[in-house]
Amino acid sequence: MSTEIHTGGCQCGAIRFRVTGDLKDASICHCRMCQKAFGAYYAPLVSTRGAVLEWTRGEPKRFQSSNVVRRGFCADCGTPLTYEAPDGVAVAAGAFDDPRPLAPWVQYGVEGKLPYVDDLPALPQRRTEEDEAAAAFLAGVVSYQHPDHDTPAWPPR
Ligand SMILES: [Zn+2]
Ligand SMILES: [Zn+2]
Repeated sequence: MSTEIHTGGCQCGAIRFRVTGDLKDASICHCRMCQKAFGAYYAPLVSTRGAVLEWTRGEPKRFQSSNVVRRGFCADCGTPLTYEAPDGVAVAAGAFDDPRPLAPWVQYGVEGKLPYVDDLPALPQRRTEEDEAAAAFLAGVVSYQHPDHDTPAWPPR
């Protein structure tokens, strides 16, 4: 049986990680602490319990958000990266190079769920290129986001 390897990192590329092993425990958490830590309606997290998490470039800065939990993030670009509890570390799902296989199976902290979250799938949907007024702006955009794969050095020369 092959061992799965999952890579990822922050938006700027200063921090990169590798998880070796199967990742089967992905969730979202609606609690107010996760909303704040992610600046989002809820936090998507993938438990690394039973797998090996390594920081292959840089290391997150941590904020102790309670007496038992630390939150890791990139000190350079602010990307939320971890939820670190005594029973294990979970990594932000969107920080993985390929979050597509990491489908959540449960929602935690639903007492904190924001009232419109269950309605999100029913909202109108637009593709980026449908906004013709923004076409000229979009054509000039140059991304400084780290690519979705490991790189030998960062920033690129
Ligand atoms: Zn960063
Ligand atoms: Zn939470």
